[in-house]
Amino acid sequence: MSGTDVLYPPLPQPDPLTQFFWDGVSEHRLVILRCDACGFYLHLPKVVCRNCLSTSLTPTEVSGRGILSTWTIPMQPFDPYYQSQVPYVLAVVELEEQPNLKLVTNIVDCAEEDLRIDMPVEVTFREVAPGCILPLFAPTA
Ligand SMILES: [Zn+2]
Repeated sequence: MSGTDVLYPPLPQPDPLTQFFWDGVSEHRLVILRCDACGFYLHLPKVVCRNCLSTSLTPTEVSGRGILSTWTIPMQPFDPYYQSQVPYVLAVVELEEQPNLKLVTNIVDCAEEDLRIDMPVEVTFREVAPGCILPLFAPTA
């Protein structure tokens, strides 16, 4: 591998259940599956609402705001892309739309010593490799 090769993270592999999520990301929109019957949000996407068992579910854009539930700083990731990113913040963010509506993501634009449980964060869409956009989170401005 030459020094000019671009490293990619493990790329999303959309399937019929998750295509809407990645379509939203490509448009810089955070879209979560929501139950038409009871309003419950589901992430990761499922075919049945675990709150009311309805199968009528619709991708719904959310605010992109939430709080930092927890994080870690991986020091020995296996993947070459993530090895190239050390140190980075692997995090779980809880979206404001619903208690325990959580995404695994990275926190960016925040020094490690400034991270706090429950700190407000908001989504930011970053092209982490050519053509590869991921929904990451940064402290709310
Ligand atoms: Zn439901």
